[in-house]
Amino acid sequence: MQNIDLTKLESKNIFNTDYTDKNVLIRTCLNVAINEEGKITDSTRIDESFPTLKQLGEKAKRIVMMAHLGRPTTARESEFSLEPVRVELEHRLGEKVVMLSNYENIDNFLNNSIEPSKYYLIENIRYFEGEETKDENKKNEFAHYLSRLGEIYVNDAFADYREAASTYDVAKLLPSYLGPVFIKEIKAISYFTNPIRPFIAVLGGAKLSEKLDAMLALTKSADKVLVGGAMAYTLLLSQDVSVGKSLIETDKLEVAKQIMNDYKDKIILPLDHIISNEFNEESISSVNDNQSIPDNMLAIDIGPKTQEMFVNLIKDAKSILWNGPMGVFEWESGIQGTKVIGSAITENVESYKFAGGGDSISAINKLELNGFNHVSTGGGAMLAFVSYDKFPTLDIILSQN
Ligand code: AMP
Repeated sequence: MQNIDLTKLESKNIFNTDYTDKNVLIRTCLNVAINEEGKITDSTRIDESFPTLKQLGEKAKRIVMMAHLGRPTTARESEFSLEPVRVELEHRLGEKVVMLSNYENIDNFLNNSIEPSKYYLIENIRYFEGEETKDENKKNEFAHYLSRLGEIYVNDAFADYREAASTYDVAKLLPSYLGPVFIKEIKAISYFTNPIRPFIAVLGGAKLSEKLDAMLALTKSADKVLVGGAMAYTLLLSQDVSVGKSLIETDKLEVAKQIMNDYKDKIILPLDHIISNEFNEESISSVNDNQSIPDNMLAIDIGPKTQEMFVNLIKDAKSILWNGPMGVFEWESGIQGTKVIGSAITENVESYKFAGGGDSISAINKLELNGFNHVSTGGGAMLAFVSYDKFPTLDIILSQN
């Protein structure tokens, strides 16, 4: 994790600069859940991004928004259209939001031969081939094209951290700034560059592979790393503990073994489990009062002894970073571990408490856990920030004077 100069970060806040009467090109995060009828079912990302868009409108001349929705191909499948988002934004802003659906519309915007408005939204930016292509020339060309849409560029999409044309390349071509959502995330996670100790990291969730780099980084910086969820079973198996039919990643066994050898004292794995004979909600579950799991059973949650051990460590912590549920929290039979650990974190009122990741947020909402200093909506981005000494979409903007 890199140490960000927070003064420099603030100096790049769009709201600390004068953008009066300027055309602003903004990369924002509007990646909401939309059902088959085109209805928005979870508007978290709009809720979060909207205040920036509204405030920009008070002084900017025109605002062109770039955002993605899901993972479409360039074939433009209609379920990935931002049209429902455009309608929602129009409703919240109380102003017309004009969709720039394709190159023709964008060209019309550039020629001033489009309906005048304060707000424009480019249709799902991933519909455009140049956005994420591996062909650097094409990506660059697309970034140049986008850069013509504004006099200044703002990135407020912390969650969209990959180096795409709209998140990265275009920042090289215009005076570039950060939005408050991005800045808030960086400030909150930057706490962990110099945390008050003991610093406890709690990791869970399905895939060790997705969290390996973060886990490696955290084993270096945290005092203890408590691991639950399915990812714990690949680590246990690497230590020759039987895990039965539990979800594991066999291709990660070697690296799991290596991490456990290097950080045996820091990484704390489950001692007991809640097990079941089938991976389904109806299947009867029971406590397995042993670290080894019988061949015909699988783990769906951490057991009571593990909960107690984790809670004791969490109680004494001064800094806590949590990513990922301890079990299959979607089921009544697999929620207890996440409930006990989540509650222990929020009950530690003296500590700095940070939670992040899509499924952690679902669990936090489901369990109605309150009191975190910060809940990050950019799970992957947060893990990437923790894992590496670079964060390109931020670095490119901070490198400008
Ligand atoms: P992630 O998105 O990586 O944080 O993973 C979250 C998912 O991990 C949730 O859907 C959980 O149901 C799942 N999960 C947690 N523990 C287990 C487990 N022991 N076995 C299978 N899936 C699990």
